[in-house]
Amino acid sequence: MFASKEYYKACIYTRLSKDDGDKPESDSIGNQKALIREFVKNHPEIQVVSEKADDGYSGVNFERPGFKEMMEEIRAGQVDCVIVKDLSRFGRNYIEAGNYIERVFPFIGVRFIAINDSYDSTDRNQSDSLIIPFKNLINDAYCKDISVKIRTQLEIKRKKGEFIGAFAVYGYLKDPEDHNKLVVDTFASEVVKAIFRWKLEGMSQGDIAERLNAQGVLCPMEYKLSLGMKVQTNFRMNRKAAWSWSSVSRILTNEIYTGVMVQGKVSTPNYKVKKFMRKDEAEWIRVEQSHEAIIDEDTFRVTQELLKKDVRRGPEKGKVYPLSGYLVCADCGQSMIRKSAVSGGKKYYYYVCSGHKAGKNCKPHSIREEDLFGAVLAAIRGHIKIIADMKRTMDTLRSLPEGQRNTVNYDMQIVKLKEEIERSQGFKMKLYDNLQDGLIDQEEYFLFKKNYSERIADAERAVQRLEQEREDAVSRNVSEQAWTKVFLKNKNLTELDRKAVVDLIEEIVVYEDKKIDVRFRYMADFDRAMHAVHMLPVKPREAAV
Ligand SMILES: [Zn+2]
Repeated sequence: MFASKEYYKACIYTRLSKDDGDKPESDSIGNQKALIREFVKNHPEIQVVSEKADDGYSGVNFERPGFKEMMEEIRAGQVDCVIVKDLSRFGRNYIEAGNYIERVFPFIGVRFIAINDSYDSTDRNQSDSLIIPFKNLINDAYCKDISVKIRTQLEIKRKKGEFIGAFAVYGYLKDPEDHNKLVVDTFASEVVKAIFRWKLEGMSQGDIAERLNAQGVLCPMEYKLSLGMKVQTNFRMNRKAAWSWSSVSRILTNEIYTGVMVQGKVSTPNYKVKKFMRKDEAEWIRVEQSHEAIIDEDTFRVTQELLKKDVRRGPEKGKVYPLSGYLVCADCGQSMIRKSAVSGGKKYYYYVCSGHKAGKNCKPHSIREEDLFGAVLAAIRGHIKIIADMKRTMDTLRSLPEGQRNTVNYDMQIVKLKEEIERSQGFKMKLYDNLQDGLIDQEEYFLFKKNYSERIADAERAVQRLEQEREDAVSRNVSEQAWTKVFLKNKNLTELDRKAVVDLIEEIVVYEDKKIDVRFRYMADFDRAMHAVHMLPVKPREAAV
């Protein structure tokens, strides 16, 4: 607030932005100007000397050409009064707008008028200056609301699995019919498949990149350029880009190849800041089967496990041995290292605990690679044989007419458990009478009551589990499950190779006495299936391991 002058040199400031949700008709620049001129007619002390309009500029910040010009005229002394239709025309950012209106303008002697907000800085009755930041705050909230609305639109698209990125990821193309959809790029998808295959066969990302470059396969960026896509990069390319460790890694870790669209990994923290932040994985938006898969889910999952193992054992140059990253010391849990030695003029390889020599006092646990290969192969074959027998049993059962699929073992157990529940409930009910009759004391009463309650709960859980298993055994085809296929695919394995190890094994624990423990993948599925099979009348043949 400051003393009124004789007359004012005013600038009419107008602004319109569809992004802010302004209605082009009612909020048009023309309408704003007309309203202000009408106002000025009744204020002979005001002379309009300048007009500035920012058409298409958001009020969130003050980076607007018209606004800047106006400020220059103010600083040059050509303007000492600013008139706007309402505060939101001036700005939608509470802090900055408040700074101009409450500090900058009073300081340099500028009168500020927001017509529809009935605000005039020379108005002495308007002592409550708080009204300005308050109104601005509302504008600000409104602005935030718009920002949220725009983002919500994008999220809806993401949730529908529509592709909103500027480019399709390597292996896919944007569907020419529908730019929100992805279609498989035949050539690039074959390269993607090869990359996953080579990784599972034991090649490192570096080796894969080298092979691709040697074969003259264009890297994703060059490939896009060759397809005539306009690619923006942050760096200048003096020479052709090539496949690298990281471009191969990016492909190996991108879930999009399994048909899952994962978007919204980053977000701008709020509408005022144009900065990207990585969101928590839980907040990512995943849509399954949004497009055709190039890589099956199992291959993808195994690859991710393999990449984790790579990290654990550190970068490895050159060849990856069949058991690299899979051998773990039973005593200290550290990985085993491959070494060579000579015996009787012949070179051989062996593994030794990495904690042995590192001064960590672990025993050597040394074991020859040859022996390991034999033992692991035998374990795999034994495990597969059990699964094959199990499958045969299930198939036999399934070939029977439904009425003959005997689930009597399940039924008998369920009946027994239900009887036990009833009995326990009866005892529990009588406890209070027993207490009243003085047969037991209060302590015993609580103890027995707790006991019976636990027994009932256990039995109820067991019934539930058995009913589920009976259901599984009859209606769900265990032998058709993906995990059994993974094993049976390796039925005729005669030599240990990297692919089989990666497919089937989670970890191999090595004991000091040269005993090993092969931990297979899918053990939870295996156990469940075995239990189901044993509950059936037809037992699988005894399998020798
Ligand atoms: Zn050890």
